Amino acid sequence: GATIGILGGGQLGRMLSVAASRLGYRTHIYEPGAAPAEQVAMTRTRASYEDMGALKAFAESVDVITYEFENVPATALDLLDALRPIRPGIRALAVSQDRLTEKTFLEGLGLRVAPFRDIPDAASLTRALTNLGTPAILKTRRMGYDGKGQIRIDAVEEAPTAYAQMQGADAILEGFVDFRREVSVIAARGTTGETVCFDPGENVHDGGILRTTTVPATLSASQRTDAALLAGQILNALDYVGVLGVELFVTADGLVVNEIAPRVHNSGHWTQGGCAVDQFEQHIRAIAGLPLGDGRRHCDVVMENLIGDDMTRLPDLLRQPDTQIHLYGKDEVRAGRKMAHVNHIKRA
Ligand code: ATP
Ligand code: MG
Ligand code: MG
Repeated sequence: GATIGILGGGQLGRMLSVAASRLGYRTHIYEPGAAPAEQVAMTRTRASYEDMGALKAFAESVDVITYEFENVPATALDLLDALRPIRPGIRALAVSQDRLTEKTFLEGLGLRVAPFRDIPDAASLTRALTNLGTPAILKTRRMGYDGKGQIRIDAVEEAPTAYAQMQGADAILEGFVDFRREVSVIAARGTTGETVCFDPGENVHDGGILRTTTVPATLSASQRTDAALLAGQILNALDYVGVLGVELFVTADGLVVNEIAPRVHNSGHWTQGGCAVDQFEQHIRAIAGLPLGDGRRHCDVVMENLIGDDMTRLPDLLRQPDTQIHLYGKDEVRAGRKMAHVNHIKRA
């Protein structure tokens, strides 16, 4: 059987590895930090993305390369790309590594995004705030996740303090979107160009971190169609192969794209309890050139993340009926750290 290389050894890499294993593939995980994925990966390399020798040996040991983490340095990607197919391709990664490139790309497709401005220096922040109004959100262009690297600004006078907090990182300012709810679409595209969407899930965040995803989401029929169409548009424009997460704001006048993730997505974990082929298997099928699963949902699900001290609820959750538990094997519980998730299955 073939071997799938995975860049990143967090919980997403671990769950991809489990899905690959069920389909008869071996996996080789490449991870610079200490990582919990070794329980399921057949092979694991712990080396930095600057270690060209380790990267080359990794690429040569696998047939196709994917990733669970979009911030792999460009130099490492170029080296790997010359040796083995990377799926999704490096264009999808480049576009989504940087919020400025990503928003510009989405706007270019005719999709709605929050109003935004590039913030290369302190003066441009004051100008952009005057222009877009408040509240607004200052975000680092790169590396942000779980709401990290974001500052909400409520008055133009806060500009100097807010800018200083970015510590010189490249940033963008986004106008605040007055949304009714947040939803996301997990979609996939195969090597033949076929696309498949899962049902949109409704997401609740707390302090920038995803708490729950509920399917079905509260959406009109036309909003559902819009969500699937725009996901397909993004997949095709990037000539994408694999699973893509699209985060959306539902507003009074339609869907606004918040951000995209070129990988399996936390808000798609419900598919493990709600679909015959979940997002992890779907991703492996796509990058391995297999036919895609149909994406249909066979029951309603509420996915709940267990973050930090939520883990104290584990004994109770283990006793609850219709509750599917996914532990990530992380040894250290830290505040704000995603430790596990559960899928509450809703019987018809
Ligand atoms: P992750 O990648 O983990 O989803 P992130 O750090 O990239 O998170 P965003 O998705 O940009 O962060 O923002 C986190 C949350 O903050 C959003 O889901 C939304 O609730 C809120 N938020 C972000 N941008 C805006 C905006 N322009 N207007 C209103 N709310 C926003
Ligand atoms: Mg993000
Ligand atoms: Mg987000």
